[in-house]
Amino acid sequence: MITFNKPYLTGKETDYIKDAVSNLKISGDGVYTKKCHDFFEKKYDFKKVLLTTSCTDALEMAAILLDIKEGDEVIAPSYTFVSTVNAFVLRGAKIVFIDSSVENPTMDVEAIEALITPKTKVIVPVHYAGIACEMDKIMQLANKYNLFVVEDAAQAIDSYYKNKPLGSIGHLSAFSFHETKNIVSGEGGMLVINDDRFLQRAEIIREKGTNRSAFFRGEVDKYGWVDIGSSFLPSDIIAAFLYAQLENLEDIQEKRKKIWKVYQEGLQGLERSGKIKLPFIPEYATNNAHMFYILCNSLDERTQLVQHLRENDVYAVFHYLSLHKSPYYTSKHDGRKLMNADRYADTLLRLPFYYELSNEQLSYIISVISSFYEKR
Ligand SMILES: *Cc1c(COP(=O)(O)O)cnc(C)c1O
Repeated sequence: MITFNKPYLTGKETDYIKDAVSNLKISGDGVYTKKCHDFFEKKYDFKKVLLTTSCTDALEMAAILLDIKEGDEVIAPSYTFVSTVNAFVLRGAKIVFIDSSVENPTMDVEAIEALITPKTKVIVPVHYAGIACEMDKIMQLANKYNLFVVEDAAQAIDSYYKNKPLGSIGHLSAFSFHETKNIVSGEGGMLVINDDRFLQRAEIIREKGTNRSAFFRGEVDKYGWVDIGSSFLPSDIIAAFLYAQLENLEDIQEKRKKIWKVYQEGLQGLERSGKIKLPFIPEYATNNAHMFYILCNSLDERTQLVQHLRENDVYAVFHYLSLHKSPYYTSKHDGRKLMNADRYADTLLRLPFYYELSNEQLSYIISVISSFYEKR
């Protein structure tokens, strides 16, 4: 059986965890958390980063930082993970769902301006599959209408938009280290703060609404309750795991890009003959090899292909169901049709993707897909 995902261990994770434990400083913001923060700030030009227990938590922190209130409007894609928008809904926001573009599941930037109202506060671009949204256009609109941009960069580690690292462009950005992402810590995430206005308050929100971080740096002589907040910081044990992964980021990325290329080369014949579509990567975007997906022609065809792959011991999975049609939000949605989001929900299929996938396994998966389309 070829599974869909298999977390890759570099071998150092448990050594660093043992070390963190022996330091006897295993709550948040220990030695390994600082190492991870330094790594990201140096490598990607992020103004400041804070590890969190998940990307979901980082997004919730962003919604608190932006003072999202009842009635505020947030523009976000429908074709995304629930946390992208749930973080804002928790604070009372109304989600104005935007369609995906024709070429790939990132948001259709041409549709943004018409959705902006005096209540709009935030745009949340999601870099689906690690492929950048058209950030210049999004930032221009944000400037014009005085809006904030929160990048959902959960899948976008080590990916770029016009040479700028994803996560460094919006006012705030959120990353995930969930075991299904390129770099993992089991559960885990990170908030990136690129706007000075949020630096101080982000620390406070992450520390239960207290100024404990400033206290530990000796900047205040006692700490207390100064704002709202929650416990968003991960244990240093998690950071120790993550640091072992970060030390191997380049190797992991190189391997994943090779796997991606094998899929692309192996399946491009099917694309040329019009049987399937392969991922579209705009010129302004890089590919961080987060996932490899194909687009089938219909839901029915995809269902049969999934079945065919399973019968041949390959586990491929579809992805999101459009959030504007979800049981929770359908009655709150304004009724606009989002054709591309629905099309990706029906036709996108993710193929097995992980570091240890061998060339033989890849050839096998490609041959199983080819055999399915031979008779079509
Ligand atoms: C994985 C993912 C999340 C959630 O990440 P967690 O770390 O599991 O909270 C959010 N948004 C997108 C687009 C994701 O892919």
